[in-house]
Amino acid sequence: MPIDPQYPKNHQAIGIHRNADAQHYHFVWGPGKVGEAAENDDVKAAYASRGEDLVPLGVHGTMVALDWDSCIADGGCISVCPVQVYQWYRTELDVPAIQMQNATSAGTGDDREKDGRKDYTDKSDPIREHDCIWCMACVAVCPTQAIKVDQSNTSFHEQASQKFSQQLAA
Ligand code: SF4
Repeated sequence: MPIDPQYPKNHQAIGIHRNADAQHYHFVWGPGKVGEAAENDDVKAAYASRGEDLVPLGVHGTMVALDWDSCIADGGCISVCPVQVYQWYRTELDVPAIQMQNATSAGTGDDREKDGRKDYTDKSDPIREHDCIWCMACVAVCPTQAIKVDQSNTSFHEQASQKFSQQLAA
């Protein structure tokens, strides 16, 4: 099941993934779902190897949105992005993906290599969503159609920013 074509309608902002530059952040939206990741043999084996639960994770990003429940750690988006919007999150913070619903990243993870994933529990994370130039290359290469890029979703980002204003000011 690819990312919801109506996204982010019918979703709620459930977390903030901050950039350590203290200026930028992207929202995480739920509810999650049982998607391609839960059906992929490489992903299932990697979770089993780590002893981590394969649970619904939701969508990271609003204008550059990547459905982590559809992401099977292919990495094509990372290698084609001309401005390094994405990074392999586990190459910076090697924690279960559910913990990334509220996290702070410095953006120091691998942001260039298709096969730079830590393992198949890794996810492509739009840590520099604000740098997107709307070229759509990542959308075109994703094998599970996990990505939706839509500049007009800025209004949803701003609404969520108001909802989370106290956390963002802290
Ligand atoms: S649309 Fe282009 S610039 Fe934006 S995240 Fe995708 S590949 Fe990068």
